[in-house]
Amino acid sequence: MIVMKFGGTSVGDARAIDRVASIVQGRLTQRPVVVVSAMSKVTDTLLTMARAAGAGERKAALKLCRSLQERHYNTASELLGTALFTQFHAELGADFEALDELLRGISAVGELTPRTTDHVAAFGEVLSSKIVAAAFSARGLNGSHVDSRDILVTDSNYMQAVPQYDETNERLKTNVQPLLDESQVPVMGGFMGASRAGITTTIGRGGSDFSAAIVGAGLGAERIEIWTDVDGILTTDPRICPDARRIKVIGFDEAAELAYFGAKVLHPATVLPAIQKNIPVYVLNSLNPSCEGTRITTHAPQGQNIFKAIAAKKHITIIQVAAPRMLLAHGFLRAIFEAFDRHKVAVDVVSTSEVSVSLTVDSNHSIPALAADLSKLADVKYEGRKAIVCLVGENLREKPGIAALVFRELADKKIRMISQGASEINLTFVIEEDEVPDVIQRLHKTFFAELDPEVFA
Ligand code: ADP
Ligand code: ASP
Ligand code: MG
Repeated sequence: MIVMKFGGTSVGDARAIDRVASIVQGRLTQRPVVVVSAMSKVTDTLLTMARAAGAGERKAALKLCRSLQERHYNTASELLGTALFTQFHAELGADFEALDELLRGISAVGELTPRTTDHVAAFGEVLSSKIVAAAFSARGLNGSHVDSRDILVTDSNYMQAVPQYDETNERLKTNVQPLLDESQVPVMGGFMGASRAGITTTIGRGGSDFSAAIVGAGLGAERIEIWTDVDGILTTDPRICPDARRIKVIGFDEAAELAYFGAKVLHPATVLPAIQKNIPVYVLNSLNPSCEGTRITTHAPQGQNIFKAIAAKKHITIIQVAAPRMLLAHGFLRAIFEAFDRHKVAVDVVSTSEVSVSLTVDSNHSIPALAADLSKLADVKYEGRKAIVCLVGENLREKPGIAALVFRELADKKIRMISQGASEINLTFVIEEDEVPDVIQRLHKTFFAELDPEVFA
């Protein structure tokens, strides 16, 4: 069997879903399980309406809900035709009634908890998976909707819930495998699951890729296909560099590093369950299905180019902790990291000197409280609007002169932090956020002007 995951833009409207049906049709003999995201932008809209309800803006929340309802109804009726839509209508209607009621409840209480946030956020995938399954059936594809909340068991860490693999795998075998055995096409929503107590959870933004990998690993897939709106993993973000080129094959570790440092095309955790089982992952384009895409495998060819790709992660804050009196004091770093831990703030890049430590974190609302806590230990400064740039390639440690090549191109730029050698495969530095396009374009021109045809297309 294989897993085919379709992202938000690939199920963004009736035409897109129609394309999905024909792509799946072409793979029927490989026994696909289909995992879908919410229709494009729907998760953002759901979160906006949940926050509005939480702030007591009931009318605004319900208005957003109605526009979402209209979009889903229009898509479904376009896909199903009048007769089928009349039957299906009630099912979607019940979901929207539940959402409406939930929003009224949230605004009455005037408080939005992580638990209710997940409840609202999951509607995007609930709705899209039902519509896609119905569209498949209407096209003779034997689509069978599976509610992912009955399959993906997680802990109760709402908004970032952690999958419980043993129970999930068990349920995949008892509830999804039999559908495959009967030649049905199971259609599941990504991103959402439920705790053991049956309360809806989500596994983090962009999490449908992760869901696909969990399903693929649990059912022993031959292949996992991540269908999106570009030709595969490209040498950099095509919105910054329109001449970004396709990478034909990339290593798991390289892909994970890229995803972690901002290449939004793939959720970082995706690769984990797949690596462990040695399942190849492909990134493919639903707008250009005949393109071979990118294959992510354990052993990728090295190629002649120094780097495989460049990624940038914006909305970064640098926190600088300086403690002249603490000179190398035993336990100082531990105390600092414990403070980050207490505030549940994850650190990306670290650099130290004898008297100070600089760390980068995603800009977020916990930073002032964290800084106040840290200032009990030392002098603390923090500065937002930074970005991390990450160049990824195999065996960078072994290649002489790489840092010189990179920073010569950026001689006129203010580089705030540099990190190389933490892993064999990345060179990372921090710049001002508004410099990202210029820096990426320059580096792309330098390192990707000539490409090894074995690795790049
Ligand atoms: P989906 O909705 O299918 O999950 P995403 O929006 O999450 O799609 O990811 C696809 C987008 O990622 C592309 O449209 C592209 O703009 C962006 N992107 C950023 N960096 C890269 C990269 N290195 N290669 C390909 N796409 C990238
Ligand atoms: N719909 C979810 C999100 O936008 C999950 C996903 O698309 O992967 O984050
Ligand atoms: Mg995505």
